[in-house]
Amino acid sequence: MTFSQIPYERLTYETLVPQMQDLTERLAGAVSAAEAREVYVAYDKLAQQFDAAIAVVYIRNHLDTTDKFYEDEQAYNDEMIPRAMELLHAFNIKLLATPFRADLEREFGALIFKNVEIEQRAFSSAIVEDLQEENRLDTSYTKLLASAQIEYNGETYNLAQLDAFHLDADREVRRCSTLARAEWFNKQTVELDETFDKLVALRTAMAQKLGHDNYIAMGYDRQERNCYGPAEVAKFRDAVAAHIVPLAAELKAKQAQRIGLDSLKIYDDGVLFPDGNAKPLGTPEEILANGRQMYRELSAETDEWMEAMIAKDAFDVLAKKNKAGGGFCYTIHEYKLPFIYANFNGTSDDVETLTHEAGHSFAAWRSFKYPMTGQREYSYDTAEVHSMAMEFLTWPWMHLFYGAQTDKFKQAHLENALTFLPYGVMVDEFQHIIYEQPKLSPQERNEVWRALESKYRPWLDIDVPFYAEGRRWQAQSHIYSRPFYYIDYCLAQANALSIWAESQTDHKAAWRKYLAFVELAGTQTFIDLTRGAGLSDPFETATLEKVAEIVAKSKLI
Ligand code: ZN
Repeated sequence: MTFSQIPYERLTYETLVPQMQDLTERLAGAVSAAEAREVYVAYDKLAQQFDAAIAVVYIRNHLDTTDKFYEDEQAYNDEMIPRAMELLHAFNIKLLATPFRADLEREFGALIFKNVEIEQRAFSSAIVEDLQEENRLDTSYTKLLASAQIEYNGETYNLAQLDAFHLDADREVRRCSTLARAEWFNKQTVELDETFDKLVALRTAMAQKLGHDNYIAMGYDRQERNCYGPAEVAKFRDAVAAHIVPLAAELKAKQAQRIGLDSLKIYDDGVLFPDGNAKPLGTPEEILANGRQMYRELSAETDEWMEAMIAKDAFDVLAKKNKAGGGFCYTIHEYKLPFIYANFNGTSDDVETLTHEAGHSFAAWRSFKYPMTGQREYSYDTAEVHSMAMEFLTWPWMHLFYGAQTDKFKQAHLENALTFLPYGVMVDEFQHIIYEQPKLSPQERNEVWRALESKYRPWLDIDVPFYAEGRRWQAQSHIYSRPFYYIDYCLAQANALSIWAESQTDHKAAWRKYLAFVELAGTQTFIDLTRGAGLSDPFETATLEKVAEIVAKSKLI
């Protein structure tokens, strides 16, 4: 079935209630392992139907933002999902308590149950209203940023459209467009501060209702962290400061030299070459066709996946009127369909979608061999390895997209991957400080950010309005919408760089490790998958030290 053929009917809270109550009662009253299993399988099927209905609304609402029907359905879901979580919570209490848990664990793996325990810890019926309020605040932040209409050079742009000018080879274009952006953000100061104040207070209150001192432990639970905690993450940040920041500073000094500057202003940061960054050749359609060839040649597994995706019409990547911005991969388990959404615009973002989001889609596709959703679904760190490592494993085909500019693309990709780490851990450390001290004033929060800028990005001159006041974090949507998500990208990038390092000498071996990591889907933790695939543990300081060494020696840098 193709995506557009998927039928949609609202799955109302009222129809969910009796079904979930029935399953919960049957599980509690099960008298044999076979009966408990039957209920658990039926529950998983219902959960997949529920998820599919949510996914279809989310995607169709993105595909046409003027379609009132799906906009209303999305609004309904925003209110309904937290209430539905109560029903899942009640079921999961019985699932964890069933005397047949060991039998279920034997068949489906113990990790599912550990993950359910973590999920349970992050939820209580006492916080349902808070979760709804959190959704509303998150939506208002997203809407505020989406509503931006910024005057620049006689035209009006939204934030995404303005982005392109920040990378222009002409420094004056970068400077003025960045100032226009800064001016817009500075006009929203009151709303941005108020929304964040409310979010921090709300999250802290929710965590306290669940018995925590502050939001950090709850934030980790919501990120489904099942194999490391704040101490390991702090150690990782230290390793980035010790081994990656010095190399990043060296690369940035070379970059400044290359583009003819003494030092980098915030608006020079993304410009790696005097004549601009590598641009892909050809039309969006040709880029897509090259992607098909690339995956045909990469491996039998990727060929099979790509052809299936095309047959299922699981890509909507060309930019169209009324399509919402952004790009993502959304897996609809019920239909075994990992849907890729993007807005191709003729920049290297298009190729990145074909490698990054495709990595997500490929991994989801491989996971469908496991029967239960809980075995297929992995934590976010694991998921980002699927995508970020795929970006590197597709390097041998980049000439299809970049022709004579291929080395330039690779250099930028590698440098950006490396310099992302200091930025990423800065976002993470900021959030730890914010939620440890939830009463900080907006002014004090900005001070924290400024101090982190000089710790992690000492090469950057941030003397530009908005940035100079330490407000850059307000443009980082994860800080509002998905607290503690950012470190997942960083850990995944560490793994992806390890895979890249191996692929430089033995591409086949690197691919095998990647596939070994992917094939176990969500049946093991991030750390177990990493070790099991023969990759270095990112929490070991030596791992980042070695990555930095290999990057520094690369002939591309
Ligand atoms: Zn991703």
